[in-house]
Amino acid sequence: MNEQRAYLAKIKEENARFAAAHGHERLACTRTYGCQQNENDTERIRGMLEEAGFAFTDDENKAELVIYNTCAVRENAEQRVLGRLGLLKTIKAERPDMIIGVCGCMVQQEHIAERIKKVHNHVDLIFGTHALYRMPKLLYEAMRSKKAVVDIENSDGEIAEDIPTKRDNRFQAWVSVMFGCNNFCSYCVVPYVRGRERSRRSADIIAEIKRLAADGCTEISLLGQNVNSYGKDLDENIDFADLLRMVNEIEGVKRIRFMTSHPKDLSDKLIDAMAECDKFCRQLHLPFQAGNDRVLKQMNRGYTKAEYLDKIRRVKEKIPDIFLSTDVIVGFPTETNEEFEDTLDVLREVEFDHIFSFIYSRREGTPAAKLDFVLTDEEIHRNFNRLLEVQNEISKRKNEEYLGRVEEVLAEGVSPKDSTVLSGRCASSKIVNFKGGEELIGKYVKVKITEAMTWSLNGELAE
Ligand code: SAH
Ligand code: SF4
Repeated sequence: MNEQRAYLAKIKEENARFAAAHGHERLACTRTYGCQQNENDTERIRGMLEEAGFAFTDDENKAELVIYNTCAVRENAEQRVLGRLGLLKTIKAERPDMIIGVCGCMVQQEHIAERIKKVHNHVDLIFGTHALYRMPKLLYEAMRSKKAVVDIENSDGEIAEDIPTKRDNRFQAWVSVMFGCNNFCSYCVVPYVRGRERSRRSADIIAEIKRLAADGCTEISLLGQNVNSYGKDLDENIDFADLLRMVNEIEGVKRIRFMTSHPKDLSDKLIDAMAECDKFCRQLHLPFQAGNDRVLKQMNRGYTKAEYLDKIRRVKEKIPDIFLSTDVIVGFPTETNEEFEDTLDVLREVEFDHIFSFIYSRREGTPAAKLDFVLTDEEIHRNFNRLLEVQNEISKRKNEEYLGRVEEVLAEGVSPKDSTVLSGRCASSKIVNFKGGEELIGKYVKVKITEAMTWSLNGELAE
C-alpha cells in the first residue's frame, strides 16, 4: 500500500488543482453489484478515493469519475452492468473528460474484459478483484492515457492490509476474514474470479475489529466465501471457531454475525463456539442449493441431503432459537421435476426463516456449462414459483412466532417508503420496521412486535 499511497497523493494534488479551477471538488460515483464481499471492496475503493481528494455523488451525470464494481455469479447481474455502460456512453459524449472504470468479478473473466474493451471503448479503466489495491496507480495512469488501462492479473497469495476504508455507517461493519474459494461447485464462477482461499492473519483481523469498536462500531459481520475453511492456509494454529471466540472477547462489540458457511465443513467445534459466544447473533446462513443426492453430487457440493439435515439437527439441538437461512438453485441443468421434490422436502423439514432462491444461470468456463437441460424454461419457472409458495407460508408462520415479543433492535436507517419509519434487525436477523426518529439510528432499542408479514415484522417502540 505504501507505493499506492504515493499515487493517491499525486492524484490528490491534481484534484486540488481541479477544484481551484472549477470551484468544486472532483466528484466520484460508485455503484456496487453482487454480494457483501463486493460491498466491502467498494468501501475500500471509496476509502482510497476519499484519500485522493474526491468527493462523492450518486448521480453519474454529475460525476467526473464513475466506477462500477461488478458481479459475475449470474448473467442478469452482468447484463445490468453492460446496459448501464451503454447509457454512460451518451453522458461521456457530452463530457469527454469523464473517467469510467469497471472492476470486480465480471471483468476478472478475460472474455468479458476483452468484450468491454471492444464494444465499450469509452471505458478508461478495467481492473479485476486481485488488482483492487493497485487501483491508485491504475487510476493515475487512466487519468493520463487515451487508451484503456487494464489490470486483470491474478495475484493469488497476496493480501493487501491497510487499504483505507469509507463505511456508510459507523455502527456496523463487514470484516473480511478470508478471500477466495477452493470448492469449485460445478455451477459457480466464484473460484475463477476470486482465486484460491487466502486467510488473513488473526492479529490483523482482531486489530481491525478493535479499531472499529473504538470508533463506535458495535455490530461485526465476519465475511468469507467459506468461513469454515478459515486458517487452513495459515501457519498459525487457528480455525474459525477459535477466531469467533477471540472476536467475542473484544470490548465494545455487541453483535457478531458471519457468512458464509459451507455445510460440508460445519464442525461440531464451530457449533459449540456459536452456542457459547454470548455476542454471536443466533443466526446461520447455510446454503444447501439442492435436495437431491444425484444433483448435489453433480454440483460437487460434498454432502448428501441426509448429511445436510443432520448438520441442521445438530445446530438446532445446541441453539434451539437459531435463525436459519439458505441459498437454493432451481433448474440446475440435469435436475428433473422428481429430483426437485427433494429440494421442497428440505424446505419443509428445516423450516428456514428466510431463503435466497436463484434460477440456475449458465457460467462460461464452469463444468456445469457443458451439461444439457432436461427441463424447459417453463417447467423451471413453475418449480421456482412452487418453491416460493412453500417458503412464503413457512416464513410467514415463523414470523408470527414473534408476535407480542419485545425484541432488541439495532436501528439501521430510515425506511425508503416512509421517513417516519425506521428499519433495523433484531439479534436473530429478522427485519423490524417501527415508528421512530432519526436520532435513534445506530442505537439499540426495544421494540414490541405487533404485525408479522412474509419478509419482515412491524412493531412499536416499547420504551
Ligand atoms: N460462497 C457462498 C456463496 C457464493 S454465491 C456459498 O457457497 O454459500 C451466492 C449464491 O449464488 C450461491 O450460494 C448459489 O446459490 C448462487 N449461485 C452461484 N452460482 C450460480 C449460478 N451459476 N446460477 C444460479 N445461482 C448461482
Ligand atoms: Fe461458489 Fe461453491 Fe465456492 Fe460458494 S462454495 S463460492 S457456491 S464454488
